[in-house]
Amino acid sequence: MSLWIRVSLLVVGMGVLLIPAIGIAALSARDLDTQSLERRVADDPHAAIREGTIWQQQGLTSGDKSQQLRALRLLVMATAQLEESIQLAKLAQQGLALARELREPQAESEFLAAKAVALSSEGKYLDAQVEFDEAISVAGKAELTRAVTGVMVSKAFVYGLLGRDTDSLDLLFKAHQRYVEMGDDESARSTMSAIGNAYTHDRASREDLLKALSYHQQSIKPDAEKNRRHDLGTVYFNMGVVYQRLKDLPKAKLFIQKSITLSRSLNDQIGMAFGKYRLGVLAGESGKWDEALTYLDNAMPELTKAGDATMIFNVHRARAKAFAYLDRRRESLDALAKSDAIRKGIESPWIEATYLNAAGEVYARLGDYEKAYRSQVLLLDAERRSVTEAREKDAAEVQTRFEVKQKEAENALLRARERESDARSVALVLALVLLLFVLGGLGLYLFRQGQQNRRFSNLAMRDDLTALPNRRSILEFARVQLRASRVGDMRMCLALIDIDHFKSINDECGHAVGDAVLAAFAELCSQQLRSNDKLGRYGGEEFLLIMPGSDLAQIPQVFTRLRDSIQLMQVPGLPPGKSTTFSMGAVEVTGPADDLDKLIKRADDALYRAKQGGRDRFELGR
Ligand code: GH3
Ligand code: MG
Ligand code: MG
Repeated sequence: MSLWIRVSLLVVGMGVLLIPAIGIAALSARDLDTQSLERRVADDPHAAIREGTIWQQQGLTSGDKSQQLRALRLLVMATAQLEESIQLAKLAQQGLALARELREPQAESEFLAAKAVALSSEGKYLDAQVEFDEAISVAGKAELTRAVTGVMVSKAFVYGLLGRDTDSLDLLFKAHQRYVEMGDDESARSTMSAIGNAYTHDRASREDLLKALSYHQQSIKPDAEKNRRHDLGTVYFNMGVVYQRLKDLPKAKLFIQKSITLSRSLNDQIGMAFGKYRLGVLAGESGKWDEALTYLDNAMPELTKAGDATMIFNVHRARAKAFAYLDRRRESLDALAKSDAIRKGIESPWIEATYLNAAGEVYARLGDYEKAYRSQVLLLDAERRSVTEAREKDAAEVQTRFEVKQKEAENALLRARERESDARSVALVLALVLLLFVLGGLGLYLFRQGQQNRRFSNLAMRDDLTALPNRRSILEFARVQLRASRVGDMRMCLALIDIDHFKSINDECGHAVGDAVLAAFAELCSQQLRSNDKLGRYGGEEFLLIMPGSDLAQIPQVFTRLRDSIQLMQVPGLPPGKSTTFSMGAVEVTGPADDLDKLIKRADDALYRAKQGGRDRFELGR
């Protein structure tokens, strides 16, 4: 899993994306002025900060508030480019007050977007979304088309961080189109780099990554070497990351080094530190752990000075791994503890998942299999919460600021309840693990070297649309439960659920409504399940339900509960009269000969009979 790539994109991408985000409507005199601010920053943000500071002084001395505002805009753009999020938040706050006093909606939306970017770099995605929406509303009311488009680009970036890669790309392509339509070719090109980043997501295929490269290349402007050196450095860095994902390590190294050279020529210490961190990671990927440590130790002082918590966390995490591979146990655990302490201050389940993923690998490498397993169990939980938060963001998008805050409160309550039931299932799993240890050290088997990485990502896999475990991970769960039911001589049921006439929903209401129905269906069913049961997305509109400890006598009740709940389902875009039903085929484990494939086959046969028998019903497997 390459979660850490996102971390670096977060901070590096922040600058790139804020530039179009804070643009103004094209072609007016004011637009040209803004573009001149943007170009200063794209070339040398440090020089821009020096200039902005002088303007600010002059504005304060003469009492010229519009000069102060212009200075703040330049400072905000440059600070974003330099990834100094704490300073960015401060400047944005200061700018907001002034922009509102002077009634400058353009500047106001810029500062709101900057505030959102700073919030998202801290992992406060919900708050960020609220600010983005406010920025869009302020710019929209003043009919500042270019500013609205810019905020769309920033928002797309946060979607990317939330794992909503399709939504992210969707917004970016729209934004690109809008820039082209308004004749703003410069911003259109900058958007290409953002599209490149969006294609570099966790599940990116080789084709996606090649597309990413091509978009990055297209984003480079002809005068970049001369007038946009900092921008160019960021694009090179991102291209290096893509080459790393493509496993072309020499090219990756080449591009990272090119970005370091540019940073050095601009005396951009943070940029250089980013590059060194990345070179350290690359060295580790080629098994050169000593070299990795040298780079990482080199990067640390500058990152510490800048107070970039996420990056400091990254470096400690990478060091822990390097030490573990060098069998330097004490130093490895020490670095791991440091990264743990830092990530606790970063309020993001996603960062937490990144940490747990690394911790699992380090512990396994050091031979602490029980701790490795526990990290993995916690990782699943963090991943789940991360997805839950992503869904909360969906709601945020369509609601007003007030409604979002209200929902947050409700969700806090829900989450508190969920945590309670999770604690129970974690305890159950741990008990099971202990049992298996006694039975023969399954832990060793589970964590056999070479398999561990694959297992981590397999187990962590969720379905994007419904946030349920995906096919692979629900099957994995089923297998573990099946084994456990044999060991513990427990009963267990399994059911296939298929939505009836789903195709007609797609045909009559559109694919988007179909998607919403799937998400709502999954949500409602999940709410009805006992904490031991697990539902996963098995195929398009087909779900697999695993019920440990249940027998067939309980199935009618389960079916009725789910049906009652689905009857009340409301999805925007679905005609009120149209009710959604489903059919179910359920089976119970009968003997040791029942392997998972056979059980599913029997459930599928039962499901087929339920469909033949008129749908909206269940059948039990024979
Ligand atoms: P039946 O009652 O026999 O199950 O009829 P059905 O229409 O539900 O079944 P069928 O298998 O013919 O059609 C399933 C449809 O589900 C076809 C496919 O386009 C749609 N589908 C699959 N995955 C998704 C998805 O992720 N989103 C949406 N919107 N539709 C999907
Ligand atoms: Mg169907
Ligand atoms: Mg089907």
